[in-house]
Amino acid sequence: FVNNIDEFFAFCEENDVQFVDLRFTDIKGTWHHVSYRMSAINSELLESGLPFDGSSIDAWQPINRSDMILKPDVPTAFLDPFTADPTIIVFCDVYDIYKERMYERCPRSIAKATLKHAESLGIADAAYFGPENEFFVFDNVQFVDNPNEAGYKIDTEEGEWNSNTNYADMYNTGHRPGNKGGYFPVAPTDSMVDLRAEMMMVLEQVGLEVILGHHEVAQGQGEIGIVFSDMITAADNVQKLKYVVKMVAHLNGKTATFMPKPIFGDNGNGMHVHQSLWKEGKNLFYEKGNYANISEMGLHYIGGIFKHARSIAAFTNPTTNSYKRLIPGFEAPSILTYSSQNRSASCRIPYGAGEKSTRVEMRFPDSTACPYLAFSALMMAGLDGIKNKDIPIGPMDIDLFELTLDEIREKGIPQMPHTLRGSLESLIRDNDFLKPVFTQEFVNAYKNYRFERDVWPDEGRPTAYEFKTTFQ
Ligand code: GLN
Ligand code: MG
Ligand code: MG
Ligand code: MG
Repeated sequence: FVNNIDEFFAFCEENDVQFVDLRFTDIKGTWHHVSYRMSAINSELLESGLPFDGSSIDAWQPINRSDMILKPDVPTAFLDPFTADPTIIVFCDVYDIYKERMYERCPRSIAKATLKHAESLGIADAAYFGPENEFFVFDNVQFVDNPNEAGYKIDTEEGEWNSNTNYADMYNTGHRPGNKGGYFPVAPTDSMVDLRAEMMMVLEQVGLEVILGHHEVAQGQGEIGIVFSDMITAADNVQKLKYVVKMVAHLNGKTATFMPKPIFGDNGNGMHVHQSLWKEGKNLFYEKGNYANISEMGLHYIGGIFKHARSIAAFTNPTTNSYKRLIPGFEAPSILTYSSQNRSASCRIPYGAGEKSTRVEMRFPDSTACPYLAFSALMMAGLDGIKNKDIPIGPMDIDLFELTLDEIREKGIPQMPHTLRGSLESLIRDNDFLKPVFTQEFVNAYKNYRFERDVWPDEGRPTAYEFKTTFQ
């Protein structure tokens, strides 16, 4: 791992590096790359950046203004653990070639601007984030995208699901977790011990600090816990983790997915996001003796996130599938309240945390989010809550999944949106709080892209389930 350009070249020589792999993230959170021969790279290029065609990336530049610049963030460099020839990966920010500054639709640049904004308000000088990205490992996925036989069939070592028959568990008769039965029996019921171990070892090679790995509640579902870090590194780590998890599965002849809700009737994949703001080495969210030791500022931060949750969901839960996860009964929240022990609430303040570890855990986001945009949107909402001294509803320590819709309404508890269309419509009405770092132009382009790519194609597509209910 390197600190500057000189160390970069020394490191490359030591490791006989043949390729410099420049990576950047688009608004969907997809990682893109271009590989340069080592001989074509010099320190000038690393400083000035390298050109690429920005018109072929979703919702970025029009074809007639397509030139963009990749600015390598040299200290992020690490060796790709999967390539045959030594290759060094470098995270890049995207620059606008016309304006010679950050491209306003570059998520990683937006995240950097969010941190600067928090500093300029005088509220915090550091923000720590700890995402938990859950995933499934499948043996085989068959997917038919044809309205007349729309549906899919998924095989895991631990069960099978067919969306046309709504029939799960077809061969799950041996030492295999049943529906919602994966938390967390030992092998042979847990079939992914070695696979997760391999993932954890490779994650350490690429610089992540791994804490633990475990089977999750659903069949074929897993999670690997990583130490929290500053917001940009935490988002970079999400990109590394998804890459490593998918690649290790792939090299073992399997497919890993972070899709929020692949299987009906079993738990989905969340990306819980732990967060705390700090100033001058002090955790601003800690106040000993308060409920869950959370400070007033911490509560306002939650209040801001809840106030804007329906609109930031467009970034934290940005796909149509996201909302199939946010239903009662699967440890994924739909109700906007907080609690210290209650995993049915949208925000958990982990019980008994001390001065260093008191934090808020937002439980609604999922991994289809671009981590840079999701973390930025959460933080902008939280900062707005601090400015306006917003107070969230809570604490509520009861099982919220037991509440009826009437009870939720009577108690006046706000809920997450139930569809992506709902979130996008909220985003159209409620985006002032994002303006210091998300330009109006970007919010518009983002919203249009989500309607065109996700909402409309989904709304116009008959599903397998609709065939069952309406084929008369
Ligand atoms: N899978 C659950 C979710 O969708 C979380 C389960 C857990 O980590 N306790 O958020
Ligand atoms: Mg966890
Ligand atoms: Mg989990
Ligand atoms: Mg969690």
